[in-house]
Parts: sequence; C-alpha cells; structure tokens
Amino acid sequence: MEKIQPVKGTHDFYGLNAEKMRFVTDVFTSVSELYGYEEMVVPVLEHTELFSRGTGESTDIVRKEMYTFDDKGGRSLSLRPEFTASVVRSILSNKLYATQDLPLKYYYSGPLFRYERPQLGRYREFHQFGVEAIGEDSPLLDSEVILTLVQSLNYLGFKDLVVKINCLGDKESRDNYRKALKAYFEPHLSEMCEDCHARFEINPLRILDCKVPEDQAIVKGAPHLKDYLTEKSQERFKKTLQYLDDNGIKYIIDDNLVRGLDYYSEIVFEVSMSGDLSKYGALAGGGHYASLVSDLGGPDMGGVGFACGLERVVSVLDELHLLDDIQETSDFYLIPVGEIDDRETLLLATLLRSEGYQVNYSYKTQKVGAAFKKAVRKNAKFAVIYGEDELARGVVKVKNLRTEEQVEVSLTPEEDFFATLEKMMEEEHEHEHHHNN
Ligand code: AMP
Repeated sequence: MEKIQPVKGTHDFYGLNAEKMRFVTDVFTSVSELYGYEEMVVPVLEHTELFSRGTGESTDIVRKEMYTFDDKGGRSLSLRPEFTASVVRSILSNKLYATQDLPLKYYYSGPLFRYERPQLGRYREFHQFGVEAIGEDSPLLDSEVILTLVQSLNYLGFKDLVVKINCLGDKESRDNYRKALKAYFEPHLSEMCEDCHARFEINPLRILDCKVPEDQAIVKGAPHLKDYLTEKSQERFKKTLQYLDDNGIKYIIDDNLVRGLDYYSEIVFEVSMSGDLSKYGALAGGGHYASLVSDLGGPDMGGVGFACGLERVVSVLDELHLLDDIQETSDFYLIPVGEIDDRETLLLATLLRSEGYQVNYSYKTQKVGAAFKKAVRKNAKFAVIYGEDELARGVVKVKNLRTEEQVEVSLTPEEDFFATLEKMMEEEHEHEHHHNN
C-alpha cells in the first residue's frame, strides 16, 4: 500500500521535540502568570469574516494565506491564521468586557495555519504563544507586554535579542501619513507591482512591506511616518521608551517597522536574533490596536499584545545548545530474572506508579543483559531486579544505573520501601542538580 504523506508545511512533534515545545510553552506560561495573565483557549475554526474584518482585507494573511472552506452547512469557515482576532471575538462573545476589572489579560498558545511557501522557519502549520491585554489604554501596559516577552526569552537563555520598535501613531497620525503616502506613490504606481496597486487602494502603508526589489527602490524615497505623528502619539511613544529604559530593555527604533496586520496603531515591535541566527526571521512581534475591538462590533477599547513563534524559538535554542539538558528520562526499569509471572511485574509497576514514579519494563520476555541495555537507553535512573528468590523473601534489588551501586530493599512495610526509594531518588536529584550547575 502506498504511504500517506503529511500535508506540505506541517510537522509532527514527538519525543524530545515535543518535550522542547512544551518546555518553551511552560516558561512563557509561568512568566505571563507573573505579569497577571490568565489562560484563554479559543477554537481553531472561526467564521472567515472574523479575519477579513479583524485581521484586515489588505493583509497578505487574509488575501493569500488563509485555509478557507465552506462547511456542510454552507458557512465560510477558516482555520485561524492568527490569535488576536479570535481572542477579541471571544471577549465579545462572552461579554468579558462588561467588568470593572479592566484590562482583560489573557495568554494563549496553539497551532495556526497560513498557506505560505515553506522554508526555514516558515511553515503552513506553526505554533505561537502570545498574550493580549485589552480594555486599558496605557503606555505602561504597552511596555509591560514587551517586558513579558523579553523576560520570557531571557529566562529561556536568549541573550543577543534585537528588539525593534516603532510608533505608528493614532488614527489622526495615520490618516495624515496615508494621505502623504498616496500623494507620493501615485506618480510611481504604473512602475509598481500588481500587489502594490491593490495595497495603494486598500492600505498604502502595506506598500512599505513590498519585497519586490524595483518597488523597494521607490519605497526608499517615501515620506516617513515619524514626521506625521500627532503630539499625543509622540508623547505616548516617549513614555513607553522611558519605561523600557528604566527596566533595562535595549531596543532599536526602526522607522520601517509596520508589521503585517492592519489593526496596529501606536506602538509596534518585533524581536529577532542578531548575526547568523537572524536567518530564522523574527521570533516574535506585536503591538497596540486601538480599533480592533470596535471593528468587530464591540465597545471602544484598545488592546496590546505579542505573539511568539514557538518553532523558531526552539530552532534557535537548539542551535545555541540551550535545550541540551532536556532529556527523556524515567525513574525505574523493572528487570525480572528467570520465570517470574507477569502479574508480579505489573503489580510492582502499579505500586511504584501509584507513588508517582515513572516505570518501564519489557512486555515480552528478554534476557537480563538486553534488559539492562534497554534500561540505559530509556535513561532510567534505577533498575529494579527480582528473581524467584527475591520475591520469596519480599525484597528487590535496586541498582543505580549511573554509579552501578546495587542495594537490596525490602518491599515491606510499604512506608519503609517508599522512604528508601525516595531517599535514593533525592540523592540522584542532588547529583543531577550539582552536575547541571
Ligand atoms: P505574526 O503573527 O505574523 O506577527 O508572527 C508572529 C511570529 O509568529 C513570528 O515572529 C514568527 O515567529 C511566527 N510565525 C509567523 N508565521 C510563521 C510561519 N509561517 N511559520 C512559522 N512561524 C511563523
């Protein structure tokens, strides 16, 4: 039979790689909880309109990259290509905004889908961790979101992070800038790519993102957003930067940073690696959005958030050998010797597992030598060895697979048996801890 291939641009995670993804997610989760975020889980499926109205008609994501289909009831649904629109939708669906305790602060993680050309650091199914803080408009919150992101990445071991930040301004700033851009691009439009023609009509800011070399030359001469910012926006930007300075965050102000989503206003930012590791692209990005909530039919409240690509984070950490400590280990490997009834082995495994230990053993008869080899491959800390003689005397032999030290331990009374195991386990932990530091 012919094998069924995985869908292009998707990946399976198993064993160590799955553990690395989980480890990174756990670190982000813990740090986000330090900042007062709670978890939100949203569906993978949404009405297509959520993204066309929320994420924006002019974005590449909505124009070219969505997995959109009609369900059997004839509704147009899409696999989510980003989280922010879904989180805002959930806040509206569940009327979470009707509270005195604003801002609403949620973190999330899970798969996203974009029909992109697969390459290094770019897949069709990928995973993000992110946060959104909605309902309070403050540069304090903007800078805290960046702090949450950078602290998480620092905690994971990242050092040479490049934090780029820009101010897109409020509505008035952007309206003025849009007018200036249209006036500038209009006479050049005939020389520019098809996509830019569409961008010119829907959102001329998008033209600044154009990757076509000829167009980039024209983009170079375009007016700068910073010359069109209202005083209020400038003031707000200054405050955000001040808070970042106070908290030791190094950043670069990047005039050209606009980011690929329509809803951003005021502050936008992106975090990447310097040097060779920049080949993976940005690790994370985010920004403030003033009108997304009202655009989706909600009250007039802004929000701010970041989203970080987990595959890229794991790839870079792997290259930096910062995940080498993550190993698949287990506590005990059971090795029956001679004609031992399987029932005895399963009972012993159940006993140890009920005490919270990870236990493996072979499901078919194997030679003792092969069993030891397997115990080592499974990274077991201890082997538990027992023959007819031991079981008759109510004991097992416990062998430390690192030191090769072996002791006989009585199975009864149970409290003593567990106390002995716990002590052995603690000594092993201490050794590991020592070793890792
Ligand atoms: P965005 O939602 O486009 O602002 O992207 C935020 C982050 O998600 C990026 O910095 C990447 O780390 C990650 N990301 C975006 N698109 C992809 C993709 N196609 N494959 C892998 N990671 C991605």
